[in-house]
This record gives sequence, C-alpha cells and structure tokens, in this order.
Amino acid sequence: MKALMYVGTKQMEVQEIPKPDGAFLVRVLGCTVCGTDLKTFLHGHPYFKPPTILGHEFYGQVEKAPAETGYKPGDYVVVAPYGECGHCEKCEAGLPELCDHKDYVETGAFCEYVEVPLSFVERGVIKLNGPDYVYALTEPLACVLTAINQLKITDKDSVLVIGGGPMGTLAAMTLIEKGVKVRVAEINPIRQEKLRSWGIKCDTSDVCYAEDQYDKIIVAVNVGPLVEEAVSKVKAGGKVHVFAGLPSDTKLSIRAYDMHYRFVQLMGCSGYALPAFRHAFEMIRKNPARYEALITHRFPLEKGQEAMETLSRGEAFKIMIEP
Ligand SMILES: [Zn+2]
Ligand SMILES: [Zn+2]
Repeated sequence: MKALMYVGTKQMEVQEIPKPDGAFLVRVLGCTVCGTDLKTFLHGHPYFKPPTILGHEFYGQVEKAPAETGYKPGDYVVVAPYGECGHCEKCEAGLPELCDHKDYVETGAFCEYVEVPLSFVERGVIKLNGPDYVYALTEPLACVLTAINQLKITDKDSVLVIGGGPMGTLAAMTLIEKGVKVRVAEINPIRQEKLRSWGIKCDTSDVCYAEDQYDKIIVAVNVGPLVEEAVSKVKAGGKVHVFAGLPSDTKLSIRAYDMHYRFVQLMGCSGYALPAFRHAFEMIRKNPARYEALITHRFPLEKGQEAMETLSRGEAFKIMIEP
C-alpha cells in the first residue's frame, strides 16, 4: 500500500509498504492534519521518530471485518485513534484521558489501510451513513469538548478564545453551537476575515481585552506569555485553560495574587476519552455544514509535503489528506 512517510524534519515521502493483515482493516478515505502532526513535521517529536506514518483524524471504509463485529466490507466508519481501558486506577478516578492502558490504532492514517485491534472495534469504531469527510473532525472536536467540559462553560459565561487557528476556531464554533457568548482574539487578518464569515466574533487581542471581561479564557496558541496575560485579565473567579501544547520545558510566570485574591483557576488538558469522542460525533451529526467549513483544503497523499507546508504558512484551517 501507499503511505505518506514522515522521514525527517520537514520531509514527507510517499513509500510503498506492506498492507497490514489484521482481522479488521479500514481503507482510509481521508485524514485531517493535526497540530501535533504539523509540530512533528516542523520540529520533530519525542514520540514520533522518523520514519513513521503520522495522522490520526481519519474516516474510511471497512475493507475486512469478522462478521461478529457487526461490520461488513463497504461500511463507512470513523475510528477513534485510541481509547481508555475503563477500569484502571485513572479511569476509575474519573480521569480516563490519563488512562495508563489505552488501546491504540497502532499506525498513523496518512496511508491507504489501517488496522484496528479487534478488542477495540466495539468501543472505538462508529458507523457512518455515507462517505462524509467531515467526520474526520470527530477526534479534534472530542479534544475541544474535553476542554469545554473541564472549564464547566455554561451559556451564562462570556468566553474568549486566544488564537483563531484550527483548534481555537473549532472551540469557538462549538461554543456558539452551545449558545455561549464567545469571541476570538486573532492577529492574522486572513483568519479574522474567515472567522467572521463563519459568524464568529473576531478581533485583535487589544480590542478584545479592552472591551470585555471574560469568565473563561481558552489559550489556543502555544505562547506562554499569552497564558500569563490571560491569568491577569480573566474576571475574578474565572478560569484560564492551557489548550495549546507548549514546549515541555516552558515555565509560566503567574501572579499568586490572581490565584489567592482573585480566585483565578488555571488548568489544561490534552486528548480525549471515548465518551467525548461519541459526543463529538453527535455534535457533527447535528450540524455537519458548520464543521465542514473548517476543512478548507484537501490534498492527495502524493502532495503530503505541500499540505504540511500550506498549513505551516497559516493559509489553511483543517487540511485533509486523501489516499
Ligand atoms: Zn488530533
Ligand atoms: Zn484506564
């Protein structure tokens, strides 16, 4: 099969590799590029050493499945790239995102076929009615919902999202869908315009911060000082969320005053657990058109390098790679 291999920093290459021969195989129809994929492509990543296949936000068509799974060849599916075990200490403590015994779809999905471990099919695969590529966004939306849930956002809150990149925008779209007042701070005028065209209020951060006060601030840009600024500017009793992954050695300088006298809470999360994945699927199903707009570019597997470069120039929101 053909696979788009990440072969080194800023290098992707289509290679012919053996097709997996597991019992449950999915032919990948499309896989969107995640911020983590882009970071890996640009700077390398401690978990994803080249040569390897990246990509985990995918949908596809069942190629092969044992009858007892309830799936048959030709079924359209979206697959969770991983899922919690449900019974370890972390899972029992209500922190399934931190499960120590996750099941994984072992390879990346920037390729033609992906094997899903049989033991994971029932929990991790969702059947689709047709070849709707918007469902590739189920995984990133699940991550967004996890953050929204952690912040306990209600429709009485006024929320600021710092950064109108793909994840910040997805968060804003989802909050609007839930009837929450939200604004996005974004400096790139091309992105600003796009967000406004989707009905999202968007300005540069000086305008946003000067005009309003916010109960919750989601920092969706990986810049430490933006987190620090949010902690000092969020309303008393408010919450700030470190949603973008900062380099692991980043140190933040926060005033203890904000925590002690202003009751500000600083929190963060990454990834999702399976209930959020199913919730994300339901949200997309209710309004696929809203989410579909976010996939602004589609590239064939052969143009994977170009796809990564386009995303790194900030010209796209979600890019889909189609084998
Ligand atoms: Zn992702
Ligand atoms: Zn667990």
